[in-house]
Amino acid sequence: MQLYRLLYYSEAADNLTLQDVKSIAEKASIKNASLLISGGLLYCESKFLQILEGGIRPVNKLFETILQDRRHKNVNLIHFSRVSKREFEGWDMSLVFFPTSRDFYPEYIKYSGDDSFDPLSLDGDICVQFLRGLLERQKR
Ligand code: FAD
Repeated sequence: MQLYRLLYYSEAADNLTLQDVKSIAEKASIKNASLLISGGLLYCESKFLQILEGGIRPVNKLFETILQDRRHKNVNLIHFSRVSKREFEGWDMSLVFFPTSRDFYPEYIKYSGDDSFDPLSLDGDICVQFLRGLLERQKR
């Protein structure tokens, strides 16, 4: 099966709580594992950055579902490409949460000249490295 990676950015719906986000991530972990989709979900300042890796059909189908989900809005596709290997193997949909961008500032400034969280200003490959770095840091 050829492998693809999709990366998008979105904004949380106005009434979304952290508990709602945790519930999305928990359910996503189970469904993604069954679809052989790996990835990560960053939630900070009511913004989402998500990476999905897997087969072209499962990734597209899941993204179509996610696009229709009213728990977020203003979904922007940042990157979609065929890749040779998974960068998020073993992470079915781990959630990384930071109340403010200041909390991940030391990690973020490795990839950005700015301390405010704006994934649209980052290149897709850089977003991948950034999210991976945060997940690894969280695991330690
Ligand atoms: P259902 O839960 O019946 O969903 C049917 C439809 O309703 C879908 O369009 C769904 O988007 C929408 N929906 C479901 N629950 C709610 C709700 N409480 N409020 C508003 N709309 C709702 N799911 C994954 O499996 N993997 C992921 O990686 C993943 N990432 C997500 C990231 C974000 C930022 C968000 C907001 C959601 C994510 N989801 C993810 C959830 C996804 O959108 C679906 O809810 C989930 O996949 C189940 O969809 P379903 O069609 O199987 O069933």
